[in-house]
Amino acid sequence: SFAKADRIASIALSEIVQLSEAAAAKRAAGEDVLSLGTGEPDFPTPPHVIAAANQAALKGETRYPPTAGTPALRAAIAEVAGTAPANVIVSTGAKQVIANAFAASLNQGDEVILPTPFWTSYRDVIGMFGGTATIVETNAKARFKLSPDALEAAITPRTKWLLLNSPSNPSGMIYTPEELAALGKVLERHPHVWVMADEIYEHISYIPFTSFTKAVPALAARSLIVNGVSKAHSMTGWRIGWGIGPQDLIDAMTTVQGQITSGASSVSQAAALAALTGPQDHLATRCALFQKRRDKVFSAINAIDGLSAILPDGAFYLFACCAQILGPNDTDADFCAHVLAASGLVVVPGRAFGMPGHFRLSYAYSDAELDDAMTRLAQAAQTYV
Ligand code: PLP
Repeated sequence: SFAKADRIASIALSEIVQLSEAAAAKRAAGEDVLSLGTGEPDFPTPPHVIAAANQAALKGETRYPPTAGTPALRAAIAEVAGTAPANVIVSTGAKQVIANAFAASLNQGDEVILPTPFWTSYRDVIGMFGGTATIVETNAKARFKLSPDALEAAITPRTKWLLLNSPSNPSGMIYTPEELAALGKVLERHPHVWVMADEIYEHISYIPFTSFTKAVPALAARSLIVNGVSKAHSMTGWRIGWGIGPQDLIDAMTTVQGQITSGASSVSQAAALAALTGPQDHLATRCALFQKRRDKVFSAINAIDGLSAILPDGAFYLFACCAQILGPNDTDADFCAHVLAASGLVVVPGRAFGMPGHFRLSYAYSDAELDDAMTRLAQAAQTYV
C-alpha cells in the first residue's frame, strides 16, 4: 500500500475543502445548501483582461515563458511597486510564491512566527518544507493583531520568518503604518528574522492600506511582499501571483520554481499584465460593493444572540465569535456542523485558522445570498443547544 512521505504525514485535506465537498455532496443529493465557505470574488474577470489573454494566445504567446516571469509583466509589477524587475518573481498564484519562499529558505526545524487567526495553508506549507510554525495568539480585543511584545517574546535563534497577512484572511484586519513600524522596531533588533507580508487583499480595504516595506523601508532588504491578481481583479482561476524581495531571495525562489513548474502560464501572464496596466476603476467599484456587503453581514451577525464580530477593515471575510453560545463541551466545529445540519449553511470553524470558538464566513456573495444566509444563521443559532 502507499506510504506517505513523513513531510506530509500530518497534513490533512484542508477543512475548507472538506466542507465545500460535503456541501456539494448534499446539494447533489437534492438538499438546499448555501455556502459562505470559499474565498473568491463572485465578480467576473474584467473583459479587457480576457481580451488580452485571447490576443496573446492568437499572437503565439504559447511557449515556455522565462522561469521568473515575462519581462513585460515583471517590469509592470516592479513599476507599481517602485522596484527593479530583478526583485520580482511571477508564480502560479500567490500560493506558489509562498511555497517557493519556504522551500528556498527553511531548514529542518526553522521557525516561522504565525499570528492567529491565520490562513489555513500557511501552517501546512511551513510544515511541508520542514519548518515549525510558532503560533502566537491574538484576540478580538487586540483587533486580532500581533503586538510588538508578543513578537519579541516569540523570536528565538531559529526564527527565520515573521508571516504577516494584512488585510487578513480570516479576520479582515489591516495593520496601520504605526503598528507596522512598531513591529519593525522589534525586528531591527533581530537581524536574522525575515518578513513575509502577504498583501493579496491590498485592493479590498475599507481603511487606508500600507504595504509593509512602505511602512518599514529599513527592513526591505529582508522582506518578501506577496501579492497577485487573484482577489483584486477576480482572477482566481488564472493563477498569477508574485513576490517582491531582495534579488538573492528571488533568485533562490526562481531556482525552486524552475524545477517544479517553470514559468507561470504565458497566457495568464498576458492577462495579468492587462489587469495591471489597463483601466483600474473596477477595483474601487468592487471594493465599495464588498464594503456594503461587509456592513450588511456585520450588523446581521451582531444582531444574533450569542454571536459577535468586530468590524473588518478589509478582505471579504467576517470572523465571528461563537464562544458564548457553546456549551462547556462544545467546539466551534460542533456549532458549524449544527449550522449546516439545521439550516443548510456552510461556514468554516475557527479552529481551521488556529482560533477555536470562532467561525469564518466569506461575504463574496450576492446580496440575495447574504440575506438568505443571515436568516439561516439566525435560525441555526436559535436552535443550537
Ligand atoms: N494568501 C491569502 C491570505 C489567501 O487568502 C489566498 C487565497 O485564498 C492566497 C494567498 C492564495 O492566492 P492565489 O489564489 O493567488 O494563490
